[in-house]
Amino acid sequence: MRSFKVCLVSAEVVPYAKTGGLADVAQGLARSLARAGHDIRVVMPMYRRVREAGHALEPVPGLQDVAFQIGGRRLYFSVSSTRLPGSTATVYFVRCPELYDRAGIYTQDPDEHLRFAALCVASVRLCQQLGWAPDVFHCNDWHTGLLPLYLWTHFAWDALFQRSRVVMTIHNIGYQGVVGADKVGELGLENERNLLHQGDLKAGQINLLKTGLLYANAITTVSKTYAAEILEPELGMGLETTLRQRKSDLFGIVNGVDYEDWSPATDVHLAHHYSPANMRGKALCKQALLQRMGLAPDLEAPLVGIVSRLTIQKGFDLLPDILPVLLRKHNLRLAVLGSGEERYESYFAWLQRTFPGRVAYDRGYKEPLSHQIEAGSDMFLMPSRFEPCGLNQMYSLKYGTPPIVRRTGGLADTVEQWEPTTRQGTGFFFGEFQAEALMNTVDFAVSQFRDAAGWKQLVANGMAKDFSWDRQGELYVQLYDRVCPPAPPIR
Ligand code: ADP
Repeated sequence: MRSFKVCLVSAEVVPYAKTGGLADVAQGLARSLARAGHDIRVVMPMYRRVREAGHALEPVPGLQDVAFQIGGRRLYFSVSSTRLPGSTATVYFVRCPELYDRAGIYTQDPDEHLRFAALCVASVRLCQQLGWAPDVFHCNDWHTGLLPLYLWTHFAWDALFQRSRVVMTIHNIGYQGVVGADKVGELGLENERNLLHQGDLKAGQINLLKTGLLYANAITTVSKTYAAEILEPELGMGLETTLRQRKSDLFGIVNGVDYEDWSPATDVHLAHHYSPANMRGKALCKQALLQRMGLAPDLEAPLVGIVSRLTIQKGFDLLPDILPVLLRKHNLRLAVLGSGEERYESYFAWLQRTFPGRVAYDRGYKEPLSHQIEAGSDMFLMPSRFEPCGLNQMYSLKYGTPPIVRRTGGLADTVEQWEPTTRQGTGFFFGEFQAEALMNTVDFAVSQFRDAAGWKQLVANGMAKDFSWDRQGELYVQLYDRVCPPAPPIR
């Protein structure tokens, strides 16, 4: 397979800025492509938190105080770079304090669209200044939606990009970057008005993700099941028609897991380690977690873990009807880490107060604790309404913590139903988005937990699964090969 030059543009990258799976994927894919010998360069904004974290960054010569124009606005950006930890991939940080030096990664500020439109323009300008022609601009989510349109119009004059192609990955279609049609000028798209989605313009809006889907050479999303689901109105969230038109260019590639960061045998966030050959450390991790979260120290009681953004997507609306019942019926423990919408936060806080010592809720964003919950829990709960891929269920498989999940999106592609008779399977599904269905599945999981030999097999089945990036990255390489013109002859 030939080697590709890939410019991966992402609003989030571990370890610099993360709110969800996009950040893990950007890091994992970049590392795996670099390992396979591709020239991979990641571009992301220099948020305040990146600047303040004290990473060792080098200013890139020729890329300081570069003027650029978006609409009527003149901005300047500078670029610093570093090596992605554990990789030869280069990360470029676009420094433009006016846009990025703010408290959050994402904001509710009125120029949010401009912040990421600028990232698209700066990414292309950066390649120009470096004289580096990517085979592929790999774009991610709405933040990068305008990159293909800018590339094919504003930069069409530049022969450097003659052979460049754009791959657009949808990590979550729930976020589309919709702005008023009055922003056409601000986005510098006055002359490209006729290339924007005309129905949207008439309805008074511009949809940045949809624009990306119209002009990317290929579209991917993060599981096969989700790739099929987003063609339907229920989960297409208004983009199903556009996606159907581009169906032959739409591919589902399940995310990989970065086992350098997520392995119970080596995890730096765990005080005790374990592997399929020696599981003693898992019980110690459970003990440590119970203590850390202030839960009653009963190793026999099944401990259910949750690590999640608390949004409607994640399905926690099912819990109020059943959790109090389940907690009374079974001697369960529940360890929850997550923040998000107030209603879910206050629900988990209430549950903790109502079941002291049996429910613990940490309303934070804590990388170490997220690993400790994966390791210390007996089961991991993800009742998602929809789940493009989901990473936590794959982490939990590796950590010997069978997942209880809804059969949707990537959860359907990565978990297999446990069958006690054949002793096959890795976790527990429920289908309908209904509290009773979830309750029956939790009941079943708890009953299986009581069968020590069966549970041991279930855990072993999950730990043996391999969702490593080296496999999944190879699928992206095959896609790059498909969209890029054949390599030019060597002269
Ligand atoms: P999504 O991208 O929809 O949030 P994923 O399952 O794909 O869901 O990825 C979520 C990632 O974010 C996982 O790595 C998970 O461990 C992490 N995460 C979510 N909430 C928290 C939290 N409160 N603290 C630490 N990590 C979190």
